[in-house]
Amino acid sequence: MKYKRILLKLSGEALNGGDKSHVIDSDILVKFAKEIKKVVDAGVEIAIVIGGGNIYRGATADSGIDRTQGDYMGMLATVINGMAIQSVLENHDIQTRLLSAIKMEQIAEPFIRRRAIRHLEKGRVVIFGAGTGNPFFSTDSGGALRANEIEADVLLKGTNVDGVYTADPRKDPNAVKYDEISFTDAINKGLKVMDKTAFTLCQENSLPIIVFDMNGEGNLLKVVSGEKVGTLVK
Ligand code: UDP
Repeated sequence: MKYKRILLKLSGEALNGGDKSHVIDSDILVKFAKEIKKVVDAGVEIAIVIGGGNIYRGATADSGIDRTQGDYMGMLATVINGMAIQSVLENHDIQTRLLSAIKMEQIAEPFIRRRAIRHLEKGRVVIFGAGTGNPFFSTDSGGALRANEIEADVLLKGTNVDGVYTADPRKDPNAVKYDEISFTDAINKGLKVMDKTAFTLCQENSLPIIVFDMNGEGNLLKVVSGEKVGTLVK
């Protein structure tokens, strides 16, 4: 395997496949668990950061709820998603630990960096809940932060698009996919890989990002083994 320790960032909306009629699609969760198991069985240490957008997003909420209050609600949403993923992974005989940036000890361990690394070394999948624990951030930033803290080899952004394109491939038929692009070129070309805070955190710490399609069967394992899947930003 090319990468020994990875951080997988999944958006909350990946869990319902964009279908707002239900919050979490159990078929999608099972599909993801099977993909994650392939990587665990290959001996790769894997940490997961999951978004909350399928349940609540503070930054864009316009329901009269304060921004900070909404952000905390969004962070709680990520813990719900983390619990869902944890349960399904355990049903597939994968050992897991859920670590939350906001203390809620009945359901998750508090985030302690050294403890997270210890879990990874023991082969447990570590799920980081509650993002960074701070309002005004996103789970992309939480992913970038945790990936750096655990010294992950790479941050994998699992999406429903198979990489970074010159333009939105759903709108522009002439859009071309990048196999690889530098951080600087991505900025200069105005390509959106992650939000700015997350992107900068990766760039400053030379943490490569791979954007790939999490729905493709075997894709996660291919990425981790070094096959050219998705777009590498470095
Ligand atoms: N959030 C936050 N701080 C964090 C991470 C998340 O305040 O460190 C809040 C923010 O309101 C965000 C919501 O949680 O909109 C859900 O996370 P995000 O939008 O990143 O989820 P995704 O788009 O990946 O589903």
